[in-house]
Amino acid sequence: MFKLWQFGGGVHLDTHKTESTGRPLRDAGLPEHLILPLQQRGTSTAKPVVAPGERVLRGQLLARDENPLNPPIHASTSGIVKAIEDLPLPHPSGLPGPCLVIEVDGEDEGLAQEPMEDVRDLPVEELRRRIHEAGIVGLGGAAFPAAVKVDPGARRRIDTLVLNGAECEPYITCDDSLMRHYPDDVLGGAEILLHILGAERCLLGIEDDMPEAIAALEAAKASGGYERIEIVPVPAVYPTGGEKQLIKVLTGREVPAGGIPADAGIVCQNVGTAAAIHRALVHGESLTSRIVTVTGPGVRKPQNLMVRIGTPIAHLIAQCGGYTEHAQRLILGGPMMGLALPSDELPIIKAANCVLVAGSELVTGEKQALPCIRCGECATTCPVNLLPQQLYWYSRADNLDRAVEHHLADCIECGCCDFVCPSHIPLVQYFRAAKAQVTARQRERDKAAHAKTRFEFREQRKEREKLEKAESARRKKELLERVQNDAS
Ligand code: SF4
Ligand code: SF4
Repeated sequence: MFKLWQFGGGVHLDTHKTESTGRPLRDAGLPEHLILPLQQRGTSTAKPVVAPGERVLRGQLLARDENPLNPPIHASTSGIVKAIEDLPLPHPSGLPGPCLVIEVDGEDEGLAQEPMEDVRDLPVEELRRRIHEAGIVGLGGAAFPAAVKVDPGARRRIDTLVLNGAECEPYITCDDSLMRHYPDDVLGGAEILLHILGAERCLLGIEDDMPEAIAALEAAKASGGYERIEIVPVPAVYPTGGEKQLIKVLTGREVPAGGIPADAGIVCQNVGTAAAIHRALVHGESLTSRIVTVTGPGVRKPQNLMVRIGTPIAHLIAQCGGYTEHAQRLILGGPMMGLALPSDELPIIKAANCVLVAGSELVTGEKQALPCIRCGECATTCPVNLLPQQLYWYSRADNLDRAVEHHLADCIECGCCDFVCPSHIPLVQYFRAAKAQVTARQRERDKAAHAKTRFEFREQRKEREKLEKAESARRKKELLERVQNDAS
């Protein structure tokens, strides 16, 4: 019996998983066009290496960036580059950003792949480089570059790989579907990650309400002989799938505040990321598709679809029988942490695990927020042991320093506090806004510090040049005097 730990707080939620798992996984097919945002993370934008009018093949490199946090982008099918232009991005703001648009030709012609016999034939640095070149980011929703995450630095020793299969948000079942249908890719990816990290064991945490996925993984483990990988069912309490919470449940270790799992000797990857790494290194495939759950009361046939990255959401809705009369709002992600989208013309990006078409029961914003009654429920349920009520007061009063002192940055935006608040205060909205303000303020401070350093550097240079000039004049004068003395 594997020993499990507990994290504080959390909530039991109606899972709504069977709506999408009741239908088989199937391919979403080819849309008419793909939209690939060039800005994937932060403000860094990948530069296109193709031009409008050019024909591209599936797997072909389309854009790249020097910034390692912005991995390369590849074509998800064959077609003609139609445009490189600003289009709305899959974000609640709907603000535009540079995108590459491909008119799909229906041939689905791909580049020749280079399968590999044994990844251990290559140095670890080369494996990391290939993970980056394949455009792999964390598929659990955060989209952090996988190659950066598997390079924890020489100072940190990693003994444990944690694979996150605890898909704890209601409605989302793409990881469940992946583990049921591609258990060998998941476990093969885990073996590769163990090799890269030099770790001893892998703990694959999976919620105990996914019996089919557990059985598929156990069968793959038995036939593949993955002895260092332990498949560990964990209780279905939200947010067990949070990185720090899952690490606590599986290992009892705490990731230090402001730190990363590697500080506790652990690297955590989503099961989808492990499978993508396996496909990339063993089969030579770049990340051009992923499983997406399309679900909710607003869609006729909820299901999991294998989707080409860049496919417009409208195409997926059509594949699922269209909208129902209950459709009220499109959410990218789950009901707890997802982001409302303004349109179904927006594309599926690598981080998109779920398109939730919410009905009225999920659209919580309409509830009138009442004054805080200081009941303390939010603090009891917070899995990070924060004081949401205090954070709310400070965020509302724009007292960012106090919010930061109360560990605003540690908030994982899980929404547990919102969920239990009897006054229906949209706490997470306040925290997101406060975090954005803190980031903007830090950026301004960095800019000011940079300008100050440049000014001081210029002043020092001017002073140095002045001294050098004076010294040179003195030497010249001295030389002249010596010449004159010699002449007389
Ligand atoms: S749960 Fe809501 S009402 Fe209760 S203390 Fe927290 S913010 Fe206030
Ligand atoms: S959203 Fe933040 S403050 Fe609220 S419960 Fe989750 S971690 Fe705690």
